[in-house]
Amino acid sequence: MPSATPDLALDLAALRGTVTSGATLDLDWRRTQLLALRRLVTEHEEEITAAVTADVGKPALEVRTTETSFVVQEIDELLAHLGEWTAPRRVGVPLALRPATAQIHLQPKGVVLVIAPWNYPLQLLLSPVAGALAAGNTVVLKPSELTPRLSELLARLTPQHLEPEVARVVTGGVPETTALLAERFDHIVFTGSTRVGRIVMRAAAEHLTPVTLELGGKSPAFVDGTMDVRVSARRLVWGKLTNAGQTCVAPDYVLVTPGAREPLLAALREAVEELFGADPQLSPDLGRVIDAAQHERLVGLLDGHGGRVVLGGEHDAADRFYLAPTVVVDPDLASPLMTEEIFGPVLPVVTVADAEAAAAFVREREHPLALYVFSDDEAVRRTFERRTTSGGMAVGVPLLHLATPELPFGGVGASGMGSYHGRRSLEELSHHRSVLTKPATPDTLRVVYPPYPAWKQTLVRRVALPLQRPALPGPVRGLLRRVTGRR
Ligand code: NAD
Repeated sequence: MPSATPDLALDLAALRGTVTSGATLDLDWRRTQLLALRRLVTEHEEEITAAVTADVGKPALEVRTTETSFVVQEIDELLAHLGEWTAPRRVGVPLALRPATAQIHLQPKGVVLVIAPWNYPLQLLLSPVAGALAAGNTVVLKPSELTPRLSELLARLTPQHLEPEVARVVTGGVPETTALLAERFDHIVFTGSTRVGRIVMRAAAEHLTPVTLELGGKSPAFVDGTMDVRVSARRLVWGKLTNAGQTCVAPDYVLVTPGAREPLLAALREAVEELFGADPQLSPDLGRVIDAAQHERLVGLLDGHGGRVVLGGEHDAADRFYLAPTVVVDPDLASPLMTEEIFGPVLPVVTVADAEAAAAFVREREHPLALYVFSDDEAVRRTFERRTTSGGMAVGVPLLHLATPELPFGGVGASGMGSYHGRRSLEELSHHRSVLTKPATPDTLRVVYPPYPAWKQTLVRRVALPLQRPALPGPVRGLLRRVTGRR
């Protein structure tokens, strides 16, 4: 079939050839790529920061805390554990199949396509790339068209640090991504909206390409006043207003018990002033909405929600799409403010009777990417752990679960599938190959080879593969369990 992008098809052959040549099995090859990627970030941090602040309008320090340092930490983690995490893992073999050994080998998948959104344009592009390289794959990087300066910069810098048969940047928007998706990749990591996630998965299905979908949605927080309300409010404001609310795991809305509502509202007001001053528009540390379309959408959400605006509400498109930190109390649950992902500095606060009601509220909606519980009550925490699901959950603080490299990061249901970060990236972007080895002697399988005389039938049915376990005394059962590894 002719390729939609002829030059890309050529590159894909080269990228795949690097993997099929066997070169990437060598851990030193992988270390070399990871170190090159690390240098791409560290040697050009200034240019990267300038590009991201210009593209997204986030403060330079946030680029360090949430983008450059994040990628470097991820690379360092992979470098530190590469040998351990890629080593074949031995697993048990049932008694009836012994003697034999069984191992799980992680193998490179091939060429991995990474498609990134604009909100954390460096982190969400290069963290999966680091995992892909550590797993011995080669990569195609597709940054967002909404971050043109960073995309251009990465298209220029990548060939300076990584060979074209290892990594290739493709810039562009919908037409370019559509053409890319017509090609056959060996895995696709997509981060973006649920709507486009469906498009990516549909395209991947044509080639039976596995996907990791890192999507969005509405991540709730719960506050019941048993945890210090001022600390909770300060952390909620920080989590919500980092990158002006344009964070996939930002607290989307707060569920609050009646008794905790007024103290929380007062503390939220206080926290916004503490972090961003009396007039947040003047703060150099508050990010901006990405563009006119998103600004218009967010301002639209502030109309007809039926709730009470207790903080903010001001907006100024002329000031680089400024939208004030805004708190809306008890909006109509059917309004777009409560049905769409907000992805901006607007925080609805919804009153619920108690933790049980809050958990039910979460269960009745799509599985969120994150869920935050601000409560010192153990029973309440357990209610959320057991009676809700979400990609991740954090107690007492937003966002930080995704900055913990040993915790897999990913969604569930509408918020995505698959996960990555640290060891999980290596596992996600490798094929887990089962390898069983059985020596020639003794040939114990003679028991199951035909013909099947009566004695074999009895041996197989009663001893080797009984469907009902014989009632054995406890110590014998314990001994058998130890020998066979079976429960
Ligand atoms: P988006 O889905 O619009 O775009 C993401 C990428 O898909 C871009 O590279 C874009 O070029 C490409 N794309 C857009 N339309 C396409 C189409 N029709 N066909 C093929 N490719 C297409 O997302 P966005 O606006 O850049 O980012 C915001 C969304 O991403 C939010 O929903 C947010 O929650 C989500 N997000 C999720 C995570 C996560 O880790 N789970 C992280 C950040 C953002």
